[in-house]
Amino acid sequence: MRLKGRTALVTGGGSGIGAGIAERLAREGASVLVADINFEGATTVADEIGRAGGQALPFRMDVASEVDAAAAVAEAESRFGRLRIAVCNAGITDRVPVLEMPLVAFEKVIRTNLIGCFVTAQAAARAMARGSEGERGGRIVTISSVSGQFGGTGRAAYGASKGGIETLTKVLAVELAPYGIVVNGVAPGPTQIARTAHGPRQRAAFLDRMALKRYASPQDIAAAVAFLSSDDCDFIAGHMLNVDGGFAAAGVLYD
Ligand code: NAD
Repeated sequence: MRLKGRTALVTGGGSGIGAGIAERLAREGASVLVADINFEGATTVADEIGRAGGQALPFRMDVASEVDAAAAVAEAESRFGRLRIAVCNAGITDRVPVLEMPLVAFEKVIRTNLIGCFVTAQAAARAMARGSEGERGGRIVTISSVSGQFGGTGRAAYGASKGGIETLTKVLAVELAPYGIVVNGVAPGPTQIARTAHGPRQRAAFLDRMALKRYASPQDIAAAVAFLSSDDCDFIAGHMLNVDGGFAAAGVLYD
């Protein structure tokens, strides 16, 4: 119960990794606003948390909208009390070769992933920075991807959006530290969610590079987020924690 009594906002909490994060934070005692553009998904997750004895409410939010972000923070604070934790998790993925990428498709990924992360973090930070020294402060955790650290094919928009999140995380950590706000991020490697549709070749190639020889589960990612949201990481700031089973460590594999 490291997060007992703390109010948390999780974007993209309506499925996959975000659902795992919302469930884990609630299990550690946080009251969670499960925010997602898919309200039905958010409702299912919040209901499941409630059935398990936790506290959660669903909220419809487009992460790229400043109005929605301010409304989500206001809702979290009015229902549960001062916002202490924000997890910028919502994201979309694509895989399109550069020569075929329409600008609107590139913009959509950047808008949801990178701008969405900024908008959520800014709205959360504005709330967390309020008040006197003893009152203010909080934790912001961003979710990037190991794809933000590599090139690779078809990842122009997604990789750039995630690389941008990694730099943004460092800037937020430095600028917000004077307000008692601790900012870090998690970079998941391949993670098994319901809609993962990797074919056998892709899966074998990923597993070959992963020292721990399995995909992450949303719970693996959530455990790292819970740690970064807790007082156990009081002296870590601007750090991206790879939760990837050794994927990024592999580099070039020699026979
Ligand atoms: P997912 O599709 O299951 O979850 C993403 C959630 O974000 C969905 O519930 C979706 O409705 C929501 N969402 C999409 N656009 C939104 C918007 N504009 N506003 C609010 N919510 C929106 O996928 P996931 O794998 O759980 O992804 C979660 C995060 O983890 C993403 O940022 C993704 O890039 C990152 N990630 C995933 C993997 C993986 O292998 N699954 C690996 C690395 C990073």
